[in-house]
Amino acid sequence: MIKPGSKWFWDGLDAYLLANQLKQTKQRKMIVEEFLAMPAHVQAEQLYQRVNEKGEKVGLATIYRTLNLLKEAKLVEQCVFADGRSVFELSPPGSHHDHLICISCGEIAEFENEEIESVQRQIALEKGFKLYSHRLYLYGLCTSCQRKT
Ligand SMILES: [Zn+2]
Ligand SMILES: [Zn+2]
Repeated sequence: MIKPGSKWFWDGLDAYLLANQLKQTKQRKMIVEEFLAMPAHVQAEQLYQRVNEKGEKVGLATIYRTLNLLKEAKLVEQCVFADGRSVFELSPPGSHHDHLICISCGEIAEFENEEIESVQRQIALEKGFKLYSHRLYLYGLCTSCQRKT
């Protein structure tokens, strides 16, 4: 996890806007800056709340549009968890991680494991699949929720 968005992010956004003949608006820049200042996994509603708490009047639809633009630009990825939450996170080039999700408090932990990655590549190879991406979500109880039960 890399925060806040550094050069690769802003360069990538500039390139995407240019390629799509879009202008960097003050409002979009502000929304993106707030997104970057938040913890790793951001729900659109949380970003909406944060932006509006700053006194900016921005609709939820605009927040979604901005997040989707970042997704289109391959600067962020969206994870949809089984509990219905949809979170956006930065996606630095060449990086990959998977997630553990607590089904009680919603905590999200990240992990990277080269062994798992390589087994998945092997399986795809055996099945004759050309692999593009994968998402692995592990659901369970985090340590503090285990103590509560
Ligand atoms: Zn928990
Ligand atoms: Zn993550």
